[in-house]
Amino acid sequence: MAGISAAIELLDNNKRVLILERDIEEKFGGLAKKSFGGILFSGTPQQKRAGIKDSATLLYEDWMRYGEFTDRNCLGAKWAKFYSDHSISIIYNWLIDKNVKFLPVVNWPERGMYVKGNSVPRWHITWGTGYDLSNQVVKYLLNHKNKENLEIKFQHKVESVVIENKKAVGVEVLDESTKQRVSITAKNIVIASGGITGGDLELVKKNWHPNLGTPPDTLLNGSHPYADGTIHLDLEQKGIHSTHLNRQWHYAAGIPTPNPEKGKFRDGLSLVPPRSAIWVDSTGKRFQPPLVGYTDTLFFVENILKTKHQYSWSVMNWKIAIKELAVSGSEYMTAFRNKNKLTMIKDVLFGNKTLINRLIKESDHFVVANTVDELVKKMNQQGNTDAVDLETLKRDLQNYDDEIDRGKSYFNDEQLRRLINFRLYSGDKIRTSKFQKILDPKAGPLVAVKQYILSRKSLGGIPTNLNSQVINKDGEVISGLYAVGESAGFGGGGIHGARSLEGTFLGSCILTGRVAGANISGIKF
Ligand SMILES: Cc1cc2nc3c(=O)[nH]c(=O)nc-3n(C[C@H](O)[C@H](O)[C@H](O)COP(=O)(O)OP(=O)(O)OC[C@H]3O[C@@H](n4cnc5c(N)ncnc54)[C@H](O)[C@@H]3O)c2cc1C
Repeated sequence: MAGISAAIELLDNNKRVLILERDIEEKFGGLAKKSFGGILFSGTPQQKRAGIKDSATLLYEDWMRYGEFTDRNCLGAKWAKFYSDHSISIIYNWLIDKNVKFLPVVNWPERGMYVKGNSVPRWHITWGTGYDLSNQVVKYLLNHKNKENLEIKFQHKVESVVIENKKAVGVEVLDESTKQRVSITAKNIVIASGGITGGDLELVKKNWHPNLGTPPDTLLNGSHPYADGTIHLDLEQKGIHSTHLNRQWHYAAGIPTPNPEKGKFRDGLSLVPPRSAIWVDSTGKRFQPPLVGYTDTLFFVENILKTKHQYSWSVMNWKIAIKELAVSGSEYMTAFRNKNKLTMIKDVLFGNKTLINRLIKESDHFVVANTVDELVKKMNQQGNTDAVDLETLKRDLQNYDDEIDRGKSYFNDEQLRRLINFRLYSGDKIRTSKFQKILDPKAGPLVAVKQYILSRKSLGGIPTNLNSQVINKDGEVISGLYAVGESAGFGGGGIHGARSLEGTFLGSCILTGRVAGANISGIKF
């Protein structure tokens, strides 16, 4: 998305563009095509229609606090300010112009646990998911009025950037279809090769943040197979040091992809954890404070990694699963992806039975049973262990249900207090069960999902200034060299700081890509 956004900006300004893409033509569009397509904007018509009072200032303050920025003058913070100020003018309007449509209901993830996150709902989901987002933008590129200025070479891996006297002059490329090596020169080079969290999980583990303790034995890959840091490592040797590489956006509810593409392209799916499920560790003990979906992704990951086995279980029943469980990405959310309005409304009103049945059928990480005894037996069979303790899980489920029985006025459980809060916003109310007891026989069967940490996004990367120009270790601009999207830590080598408000990834790809294209064209936004 970042590279394509830069290319469109350049074509708009009558420049010639050569895209060197390692992947095959069918996959053109990168991760955006697989994504959920949720984008953070502040000040949209959708927010206004819903009466949501947002502003660039409020967004920026949320961003600084949630990202735990201590220096507002660093490159990342400057990019965050730029995003906050221009999410409508540079990102939203551009996408609307490309025929991208957003759902009317604005979502509200990352509200925060103990660090406050989004003050208001801002996550706008593309109608048709990231699949349609990517297709519309790619369609625009391929049909551009200046398309004679565009050339795309697939299966071309850029191995190195040639830099002479602080100026980028070309790239060294391996044509993976013919195994031929070629040198290509260009006036300007835009790096849009994605992050480091997919192609090589050893690199992810090498850049592990100390706050996360030790990396887990099982770490799923939920990113791009070519996000292997080739260019980051190449630039490193040339005095351009990527920053904040140990800031990574992992998700807590990953399951192995049931039918991985040939060649192990992506081996994990990230589930959207149901807010009404209880989240327990490998022994069946409920996390305290409780982990509640949509609050703070980093908090979940940190707390799960502190436990002995570093994986977790979500325990719910059928009724909760069909109402609340979703998969982040385009592949499994078929009604959304295929823009099937009727099915989508049916799924919201009566639950997405097709999705849950499919996951239960395809994934051995979904366990279903009629009683807790049977459930625990199956949970243990799943991993061939006796890790889950029946009495512990039974007690925690019963305590939770008992509190629901005592009535809303007496909710003193943090998860239940948060559920009251979630249900106050209409956009969340429709997708949050009404204080559903888990052991309620009418809501069965019971469902437990075994979840691993899933590696997805690099919050750090190649440092860039507000023109998307690459900066070396001495703070000097490398002339003719730009980095955009995830390769640049979504801007400045780390636009997010410690956490993301969500939807800032795709948004930043467009922002940084367009800025690079504009700067090369001699334009300033
Ligand atoms: C399932 C899923 C759901 C997501 N949902 C959301 C969401 O809802 N909202 C959101 O904001 N973000 C989401 N994301 C994240 C978002 O999709 C990515 O962060 C973003 O698309 C990254 O775009 P990019 O252009 O920087 O990099 P990429 O999409 O990774 O593209 C990089 C391209 O460079 C190519 N490449 C890599 N190395 C080389 C090389 N050496 N030579 C030549 N080519 C190379 C790759 O083949 C790839 O096509 C999601 C991601 C996934 C996987």
